[in-house]
Amino acid sequence: MIPESFIQELLHRVDIVDLIDAHVPLRKAGANYAACCPFHNEKTPSFTVSPTKQFYHCFGCGAHGTAIGFLMEYSGLGFVDAIKDLAARVGMQVPDDGARAHDGPRLPALNELMARASRYYYEQLKRSEKAIAYLKQRGVSGEIAQRFGIGYAPDGWQNLAAVFEDYSASGLQQAGLVIRNDQGRLYDRFRDRVMFPIVNPKGDVIAFGGRVLGAGEPKYLNSPETPLFEKGRELFGLPQARQALREKNAAIVVEGYMDVVALAQHGVGNAVATLGTATTGVHVQKLLRQVDRVVFCFDGDAAGRKAAWRALENCLEALPEQKSVTFAFLPELEDPDSYVRAHGTAAFERLVAQAMPLSEFLLKELASRCDMTSAEGRARLVAEAKPLLARLQTPLLRLQLVKRLAEASGFSQPEVEKLCDLKPVARAAPARASRPAPSLFRPLLRLLLQKPELAVRLPLEALPDDSGEARAVMNLCKVILSMGDPVPGYASLLERLRGGEDETVLREAAAELMQQPFAEGDVDDEFDGAVVRLVEGQKKRAFARLQEKVGRLGVAGLSSEEKQEYLQALGMRK
Ligand SMILES: [Zn+2]
Repeated sequence: MIPESFIQELLHRVDIVDLIDAHVPLRKAGANYAACCPFHNEKTPSFTVSPTKQFYHCFGCGAHGTAIGFLMEYSGLGFVDAIKDLAARVGMQVPDDGARAHDGPRLPALNELMARASRYYYEQLKRSEKAIAYLKQRGVSGEIAQRFGIGYAPDGWQNLAAVFEDYSASGLQQAGLVIRNDQGRLYDRFRDRVMFPIVNPKGDVIAFGGRVLGAGEPKYLNSPETPLFEKGRELFGLPQARQALREKNAAIVVEGYMDVVALAQHGVGNAVATLGTATTGVHVQKLLRQVDRVVFCFDGDAAGRKAAWRALENCLEALPEQKSVTFAFLPELEDPDSYVRAHGTAAFERLVAQAMPLSEFLLKELASRCDMTSAEGRARLVAEAKPLLARLQTPLLRLQLVKRLAEASGFSQPEVEKLCDLKPVARAAPARASRPAPSLFRPLLRLLLQKPELAVRLPLEALPDDSGEARAVMNLCKVILSMGDPVPGYASLLERLRGGEDETVLREAAAELMQQPFAEGDVDDEFDGAVVRLVEGQKKRAFARLQEKVGRLGVAGLSSEEKQEYLQALGMRK
């Protein structure tokens, strides 16, 4: 039996948005996140995730639950296994877990191997004059090297054999540290390279990037994809950049880890790098959840422009309203590392500040592929833009692009829209679920779910006993009060009420709340108003009961207490 306090703590530590996003890419939709539902087949997203209440709800099929519920439904895990899985993700130990000793989970074991390798490389850096000289020559201080955990993999084929007792253990190959060649011979993947550990937000080393010191090939060598590491999702330097991202509300995406390190060395702390892969929509989404502006900073050569274009294509769908993506290009033959070292921080920041808006870069690139002096060429411009426009989910940016396309092509705005086959952008918020006739108890449920602290102020005796919703309010209050301090959030309540008779009505109320939360400042007033109506209703019911008795037995049939109550009620009603 897993203690309830543990489940509460677990739900508190896990972020359902991250969890679901790892399986079903989410995009921001107002205060919530949305996606096409993984539990039923649909083309417009009605699957919604609430970051504040930590639950998901599908307005299409009614799927609903917490992080635990999601893992159960999505991965087919049982309740206990889902809890174990989640706990492992956030480094919590499930109490009273006898099964844990044998059949240990795979990921923590790989994590441990990576951590040991990382410590080894870090120690080796101190012993390698060659590697230290390399970093010094690139202007990297000891402090920055430490901040990024930079290490060194010495030359030699089997150095890690001295670090791990069992060099042939399959975990080392699974983690991408050791390679088995066709002859069955084992050897270290990283040899004579400066090592950059890639750290996830939890602080675990999940991969390495290795850079040659001299002229060797390949210049950059990354860990392969492993159970710990998925290239398209991870960014080098993200944990180290967190504070700077908050301060600047902008993220700079560069191509190499040396660029990130050099920029940090020069006080530009908000840079991150993709790892041997083009920027993906997931990367952009991840960043735009933390900042309002993403600046891609690529080399000014053909390869850099190509990388920028791929980034643009990949982020179109992920681009939410009110956020901006811009493109900065360095002069030919420069990368951010060389640029910031040669020209300094101020020059680099200027370059970033003047980055090209996405719409401008998009049009410029397309125009460069078409002969803009001919009518055919201008028509081709619109044709090339068509598939890109179709992927934009943001009406404002789309409109802006259509306008610019119209200017550049000589077509009118409606003509461009028609040529591009533009239909109205799908609304982010799904259609409102049908709502039952307004009752007093639905709003009360929503109020209690939004602010469970209110439970102490609800006069439970005023709730009628003939309504299912009123009973749900009563039960919810009792559960909130029994769970005590800290007041449980919705996800904890939902887990506590899992399988109970009130689950359905609570789910509906939570889904309504998700679409239309009470304004923070209105919650208490709304609640007080509801309590007044509740107490009035109680009085009315009591009066009706007395009146009915008087009708049958006359006033004489009332007890003295009832008589007093009856007269008082009559007086109040006049
Ligand atoms: Zn669904």
